[in-house]
Amino acid sequence: MKNCENCGSAQIEELNHTINEVAPMSDGKIVKNFQATRFICRNCAILSTAYNPEDRLLRYFREEYDVSDLTQNNRIIVKGKMFGKHDEIHEQTLDFFKDKESSLNDILEVACGRGELLVKLAKQNPKAQCLGVDPSLDANLEAKEKNVAFVSDYYHRDKFEENGRDLIVAHGFLNRIETYPTLKSFQKILRVGGYLSIEVAHLESSPFAPHIWDHSYTYSKETFLFYLRHLGFKLEKEMDCVSTTQYVLSLEKKSDEVLKLPLAFYEENLKMYNEHLKYWEKIKENVLKMNVKEKGKRISLFGAGLYNAVLLHLLDEAPSCVIDEFRTGDFNGLPLVDLAKATELKDEMEVALCIRRNSVDFVEGKLRESGIGTTVVC
Ligand SMILES: [Zn+2]
Repeated sequence: MKNCENCGSAQIEELNHTINEVAPMSDGKIVKNFQATRFICRNCAILSTAYNPEDRLLRYFREEYDVSDLTQNNRIIVKGKMFGKHDEIHEQTLDFFKDKESSLNDILEVACGRGELLVKLAKQNPKAQCLGVDPSLDANLEAKEKNVAFVSDYYHRDKFEENGRDLIVAHGFLNRIETYPTLKSFQKILRVGGYLSIEVAHLESSPFAPHIWDHSYTYSKETFLFYLRHLGFKLEKEMDCVSTTQYVLSLEKKSDEVLKLPLAFYEENLKMYNEHLKYWEKIKENVLKMNVKEKGKRISLFGAGLYNAVLLHLLDEAPSCVIDEFRTGDFNGLPLVDLAKATELKDEMEVALCIRRNSVDFVEGKLRESGIGTTVVC
């Protein structure tokens, strides 16, 4: 067994591994020929994933990952209203920095995707030099704004010099890379008083965590905040993005002590992870209890996303179709139908509704309005 990739400790314990070399991913794809094992570290409390072969996840990102806006800008529902997650995060970020133009001369965005947010920041801060780094960028991409430059590459921790940057943005990135060493590298290249804007998924809001395999590093909110405090960051703003949390922090001082968390963090993370595992056993049981065969019906699912990728992976018998209002084609081999088509088919099927908890009422109401039999299984 190797040491923890996050803190270097040898105290790591195995949790679970992929079933039959099949792995559901956060973009909703179910990938074959994929072997991975999850571990937890007693020292830093992180949950980490080891891949076999080691470059299997990178290969997935290069060859199979869905970077479409439909997947990446996933819709979140808050108080019955639906909106694109990225749009909302961009707005909140710009709003936080709108009166800080004079202190922002040097902005770095790591994993900037197609650079939409960076361009918006560059327009808001015309005097700032803005650099975006992302391996999926077209190497010949030239920014339209004079103060923006892009580099098509992975973020290398030692590549950036200690030159006192004013703002680092790294959204949707820290679950994919050794979290603590990466935060430490951000601390190193920021100036004291500089800002960090990050967005991560926490174990609390990731009940699917045990069965999703492309989030290589996962942790509770308290664990993550411990890392940040330990490095000298102060929380300035926090935004709940439902599936993720965005934090804006300022760097108060550059602390550099050895990372060691009280054992309670490990115990809490382990407990939460095991509860998530049980949650899926319960969901599977609820689907089996639906007894649709007696009614001459078949099970169908709602939503071509990661919840149903996990459920599909755990079920022995494939459902008839997946209802989705935005996508067409197929979902891991199952036909996708829209709500109108599903309404036509309502006598032949019943929906096993498995989605994020806070979207249940909204979606269940919609299905019932269309007369589609629905059982909430999650
Ligand atoms: Zn560790």
